[in-house]
Amino acid sequence: MTTIFKKIIEREIPADIVYEDDLCIAFRDVQPQAPVHVLLIPKKQICSIADLSEEDQSLAGHLLLVVGKLAKELGLDGGFRLVANTGSDGGQTVDHLHFHLLGGRPHQWPPG
Ligand code: AMP
Repeated sequence: MTTIFKKIIEREIPADIVYEDDLCIAFRDVQPQAPVHVLLIPKKQICSIADLSEEDQSLAGHLLLVVGKLAKELGLDGGFRLVANTGSDGGQTVDHLHFHLLGGRPHQWPPG
């Protein structure tokens, strides 16, 4: 299934891309929920974090390492919130695995 994120990877629709390598791409969310709100996605089409398989182990680790690098590059020295909404109960609206990297303001717990 083609999602809007696949179209961003393929450059079929524009996005404010802040990072890209062979395995993943990160771009600013169109409806930011914090001063910094970036989405990090694998280029491989994986529906959600629940759909990762053994063969994705190094990809999953890579994504987490990129989160740390991105947070530094984006100046999130005070910390950040990393979110992977998963499935309907998790509030996922785009069926392509993505991490929300949110920062630039304090975050509350528990989330809504
Ligand atoms: P989720 O609800 O966790 O599936 O998150 C999907 C996110 O994608 C939402 O925060 C949307 O604002 C964001 N989004 C949807 N379309 C685009 C787009 N074309 N460019 C950037 N972000 C988008």
